[in-house]
Amino acid sequence: MRLIITLLLLCIAGCTQDVADLNLPTTQDTKLKEPKLTYLGVGGWLVRWKGEALLFSPSFSNPSFPPILVSPNDKRIDQYMPEASDVTVLLIGHSHYDHLLDVTQIMHKYTPLAKAYGPETAGHILMAARPPLDFENVEPKMAKVTCDEDGKTHCRAAMTGKWLCKGPFRFMPINSKHAPHFMGIDLLPGDQYTNLSTFPRTVWGWKEGTTLAWLVDLVDDTGKTVYRIHYQDSASSPPMGFPPITTGRKRVDVEILAAASWSQVKQYPSALLKVTKPRLLALGHWEDFFGNDPYKPEVSTLQKEPALINKIHETNPGLPVVMPYPLTEVALPAPDSTGLKGPEGRCE
Ligand SMILES: [Zn+2]
Repeated sequence: MRLIITLLLLCIAGCTQDVADLNLPTTQDTKLKEPKLTYLGVGGWLVRWKGEALLFSPSFSNPSFPPILVSPNDKRIDQYMPEASDVTVLLIGHSHYDHLLDVTQIMHKYTPLAKAYGPETAGHILMAARPPLDFENVEPKMAKVTCDEDGKTHCRAAMTGKWLCKGPFRFMPINSKHAPHFMGIDLLPGDQYTNLSTFPRTVWGWKEGTTLAWLVDLVDDTGKTVYRIHYQDSASSPPMGFPPITTGRKRVDVEILAAASWSQVKQYPSALLKVTKPRLLALGHWEDFFGNDPYKPEVSTLQKEPALINKIHETNPGLPVVMPYPLTEVALPAPDSTGLKGPEGRCE
């Protein structure tokens, strides 16, 4: 184990490459017309729709490597967090520091109208926030993947799921799984079962908890879906994170995936893309984020992004793929209502 961690330290510290030197589908658009997504770096995305906004939890503090003692960096949050007072929904995928560390500062200062939705572990950690945050543990409502007795093999995708609704957004938490970080090992496992009164000081205190994928519908005034987004903040093995079978009437318009640790998981993302059949794939969590400058992204050679892009093109010829620079935008494709006749599913 010590050897593995040493190798990891050496390589992460020394193996980064300027993204401009690689032939990757990076984009740097800004000031696009709505509807659009804004990539905030790591797992953070901002979706603005019909006068409100939905935020997938961003990470700006990004302590330098190795991240042992971690705390929010107010200066960096203020430097990079865009105006977001219209955010009403904040979705959390899992509870590692690079997804949860900045949520309290962001909710207090930038998204005062937002309610956060996430797994139980995130809720117990965020209980340390003063004043308290508006948070719902959605694990009891998540679309559940069922597996055979050992809990690992022969898993079946969820049959149904529950929609939660707020304003022009309808969203469904889906049982997913976190990818191993390195050589098949998850370096930060575990759950938080009790409420915290102070935030964890070390990286190990930001326990992983359950990992959720999210299905998000952007709806019109009649409740009809105009866009469907599927989001994962960690690579996962099939069928973890797959949309429930009964939501298949509407294909996914935009798939948002994490490039990090993609090679640690079999059939990722090809198996998922076969199910969601997106019209656009937007890759996040691709840049090396340790003490990074979001305006000058670098990639870790460990992550092998060029191989990921090749694999996606081989298994999904013709699928448009973008890797936006942090703090830049992605235009949504023109709406496509094929296969969807009316509002889908009741809101919880
Ligand atoms: Zn993680």
